[in-house]
Amino acid sequence: MKRFFAVGLVLSLLPACSLAPKKPRLENHALRLELDRSDASARLLDKRTGEVWALGSPRLVMKDKSTVAVRPLGDVTVRGESLTYHTEQGVQFQFRLANDPAAIECSFDKGASDVEDVLLVDKGLQIGLGTDSYYALPYRMGILLYADGNKPYTRRMTNYGGYSMAMLGVVRNGSAMLTTWDDPYTTIVADYATDPQRTLSLSLSLRRSAHSVHFQPLGHGGYVEIAKAYRPIARQRGYLKTLAEKMKENPGVARMFGAADFKPFVLSRRVANTPYNQTGKERVSVNYTFQECADLAEHFAKDLGVDRALLVLAGWINGGYDNRHPDILPAAPEAGGNQGLIECSRRVQGLGSGWVFGLHDNYQDFYENAKSWNEDYIMKNPDQSLQAGGVWAGGQAYLICSRKSVDLASRPQNVPMVKKLFNPDVYFADTVFASPLFECSDSKHPLTWVDDLHYRTQLCDYLRKQVGLFGSEEGMEWGVSHADYFEGLMSRRRPNNDIIVPLFEIVYGDAVSIYTHQSDRASVDNPDYILDHVLYAEMPVYRFGRHHYWTRAAQSSRQQLTQRPIDESRAVFARGGHSTNLTDQFIKNTYEVLSSLGRVTALLPMTDHRFVTPDRKVESTRFGNEVNITVNYGQADYTTSRAVLPQYGFIIESPALVAFYARSYGALKYSEPALFVIRSTDGQPLDSSHQVRIYHGFGDKRVEFRGNTLEVETERIFSE
Ligand SMILES: [Zn+2]
Repeated sequence: MKRFFAVGLVLSLLPACSLAPKKPRLENHALRLELDRSDASARLLDKRTGEVWALGSPRLVMKDKSTVAVRPLGDVTVRGESLTYHTEQGVQFQFRLANDPAAIECSFDKGASDVEDVLLVDKGLQIGLGTDSYYALPYRMGILLYADGNKPYTRRMTNYGGYSMAMLGVVRNGSAMLTTWDDPYTTIVADYATDPQRTLSLSLSLRRSAHSVHFQPLGHGGYVEIAKAYRPIARQRGYLKTLAEKMKENPGVARMFGAADFKPFVLSRRVANTPYNQTGKERVSVNYTFQECADLAEHFAKDLGVDRALLVLAGWINGGYDNRHPDILPAAPEAGGNQGLIECSRRVQGLGSGWVFGLHDNYQDFYENAKSWNEDYIMKNPDQSLQAGGVWAGGQAYLICSRKSVDLASRPQNVPMVKKLFNPDVYFADTVFASPLFECSDSKHPLTWVDDLHYRTQLCDYLRKQVGLFGSEEGMEWGVSHADYFEGLMSRRRPNNDIIVPLFEIVYGDAVSIYTHQSDRASVDNPDYILDHVLYAEMPVYRFGRHHYWTRAAQSSRQQLTQRPIDESRAVFARGGHSTNLTDQFIKNTYEVLSSLGRVTALLPMTDHRFVTPDRKVESTRFGNEVNITVNYGQADYTTSRAVLPQYGFIIESPALVAFYARSYGALKYSEPALFVIRSTDGQPLDSSHQVRIYHGFGDKRVEFRGNTLEVETERIFSE
């Protein structure tokens, strides 16, 4: 009652002949944007859902760090599809309407010289607690934030070191909006407050060359629809290039489909007085000789039947892992030197085209004890001092300016000589997609974040052109069309108990192979890692022991005993009759499942992801239209239409591949949960295929196939 009265009072004060003044607006079939002249706050209506997105008003951050609210000065001009106003600081703001798809671009011009940042959104797009209200942020693979928890916090995600894609999603009451930008000088700030009520709010801070943000309301939807809506934008920006497209330029890309990543660390040298070696004496260890690396590959290929894999040697370089870069040759003498590595390469490549031989190198870190140390290559701080990188096994590294990295990589004693001697199929350059973008203040090679991004892709292109296939650490969307694999984004360590969702996989999963970080490997007693890989249809980086770890002698040796003990109660997939060695049994079973899946899904985008149960312990995904996957992390059994899944159970169903670890499948109830992979090897659906391979990992030997119950001890092939 009170409110009606107040409105009536305001109206009565207006001249009798006029109606309430209409707010300046832009409008089309799907949305309406309105601006409040008094405080420059904007509201965006999604006509499909009726949801109103409060964008808030912009705020200027001045050089002295004080902030100023934006107020329109003079007229607000609406002309055609744009709405413009000026502020007293001389900054012009503009909204532009786009129709297909319906969206609003919000931008500002250069603005005043004393303005450092513009908060284009300042604590706007607020959401409260609710199951259908969250932020979907591109932190690594992707995370969801809910307005939940007792502790307030602020999460800042700056350039491509903090976010992997230039987008974010907001969902409120089941209504979705995609926000994107195209300049890395855009920072996401998510604020969570508990007082007076639990609220998430969002700010977008723009500086230097960043001038615009795009808002695209999507109607009803969630993070899956948000990621899908970003795909065409990613393509437009040149980031999305699918594996099918890459194959047209380089058919060798297909060697990665279903390929496991084996990465032996050959030589480790920890210099004295570093976090890795706090003693005063250098510590050197040879974990594998080059001969042992070749033996490893032959073991995996011949004893375990691994027919698609990367064998990428780390620490093969002269000084050992993370030492004396960029002076990499001759290959570590302790491990066998150039001759040993030449022979290793020859033997791995002799295993067939499914085996991809690679080397790990680095063109971002320069060490002072490298013979070719030269400050000219190093990035400079504004005061012209050298920009230090991390302290690694080889001590303090300094950052190579990305404008100069190809100069170093292409020196005769670097990649050209490596190619000539060892002929790798794939090259891995450390840190390219792992470190944030940098600025360099050396007047001979200045660098903005935008430049750094550009020159890093030039390094990728150079290495890829020289060697054929290329990968690097972590993963960034701007690297997708310049690389064949990312090693890192599949790591699902949860620093803040984040809810991880496959935003990156939905946008780019059919464009690049994604692995975990080399320091975070799938091992015998982390079955949840295997579920992660089943769910996202990606291949693992395997953990395995040193030297000839699979031999009886190695297992009883002291060296093996000093390795991390295995929790056998969690060795879910390390069972069955294929090997007596736990590591090998684990690799064999999981490789059979994952490599089969990787081949089927390589060219298919992920088209759906769901948390199936309220506790999020059961998840499902879909690839293309026909590959459906469900995994169960929880302790309770989960029943699907065809199977009962125990903890760590999964089921993959598609026309040419069925695989599961289940308590029952079809009409068969298992006395002991069983792992099976049923795969058509002639490309035809299982129902009509003339060549079907049935792999039995462990558990009950019975399986239903074409209406019959079969017994399979380890493996059976049906051909007609
Ligand atoms: Zn520079």
